[in-house]
Amino acid sequence: MKKTIVNCPQCGKVVVWETGNRFRPFCSERCKLIDLGQWAAESYRIPENEKQEDEPHEDDKKDERKDKKKDTKKDEW
Ligand SMILES: [Zn+2]
Repeated sequence: MKKTIVNCPQCGKVVVWETGNRFRPFCSERCKLIDLGQWAAESYRIPENEKQEDEPHEDDKKDERKDKKKDTKKDEW
């Protein structure tokens, strides 16, 4: 029997092209869904980037709060 081997377009994994593989040319359902939903994945990346940008700001706020707490403690003493 001849086996056609292809590379998964999503992850590049070697996939045996067979009728039993309903996700071909992808290696798995996951890769197929990822490839089909790339537009969705790209739209998800935007909020992720925003979150990453917000994280340092949150840290700054936390630091400010810590400083304020220190100040209040000083006032209490
Ligand atoms: Zn794959």
